[in-house]
Amino acid sequence: MQVFDTPDSMRAWSQARRVEGRRIAVVPTMGALHEGHLALVRAASDLAELVVVTIFVNPLQFNQPADLDAYPRPIDDDLAACRTAGVDAVYAPTAAVMYPPGFQTHVEPGVLAGRLEGPMRPGHFRGVTTVVMKLLAATVPHVAVFGRKDFQQLTIVRRMVADLDVGIEVVGIPIVREPDGLALSSRNVRLTADDRIAALVLSRALRAAADAHAGGELDAADLKATAARVIEAEPRARLEYVELVDVESLAAIERVDRPAVMLTAAWFGDVRLIDNLELDSRMDRR
Ligand code: AMP
Repeated sequence: MQVFDTPDSMRAWSQARRVEGRRIAVVPTMGALHEGHLALVRAASDLAELVVVTIFVNPLQFNQPADLDAYPRPIDDDLAACRTAGVDAVYAPTAAVMYPPGFQTHVEPGVLAGRLEGPMRPGHFRGVTTVVMKLLAATVPHVAVFGRKDFQQLTIVRRMVADLDVGIEVVGIPIVREPDGLALSSRNVRLTADDRIAALVLSRALRAAADAHAGGELDAADLKATAARVIEAEPRARLEYVELVDVESLAAIERVDRPAVMLTAAWFGDVRLIDNLELDSRMDRR
């Protein structure tokens, strides 16, 4: 497995592989790799002959310095996990390499970034689109693989790739959950034991809404209230939002008469978690 820490060395490797006619998939991550990331790597291996994982904790997308400082960075474990998973190359630049003095150009996302997470995390998606564009420029992939865990991010990246004529395929992979339903996240390790249990309300709330939907309830306000009640019944949870939106525009809907996704964000102690459930697909009930 090759490890690169500059855009030029990364791009030289990718360009050489492309000249050989090989297809490259990239999996952008912030490290602290878990089974969710590894599911993306497996999907990437099915989509292309060569897999590149990027590991970069992007300061631009953190709107709270404390969250950036607390973000786990177990780089040795991550490299070992990539090796075991059969990854061909890792691109792990430093922040100084990514944003040297004089850096000033950003990718400005549109209205999709103003919804849901947008108002809660000012500047977050502008940081995401900017770093993803840089990572794509360095890795020059044919296909990029993202998780549906970050549903809004996936939607915004798809839009950016279309709008800026990037010419790659973007693939979204279903959420990987713990057996008890908690969506895997690098932030889960920061939950206290009590908050880890409390955090189960997110998937339980989404499942309650999905069950109501499966039972014929189509009214968005009712479905959101069903989910919100579950989360608000947990004293350790501080709910930020429950929304039900159109899967493409991310605009709020009043009735589930089209493919829709319910998304939620809540705090458990000083850890902010997000989760979502697409109402037109079956929830993983393992
Ligand atoms: P992160 O390292 O948190 O920036 O995530 C890197 C990629 O992994 C993103 O595309 C995420 O959506 C995806 N991802 C993170 N957790 C999960 C999960 N539990 N299931 C599926 N994909 C995930």
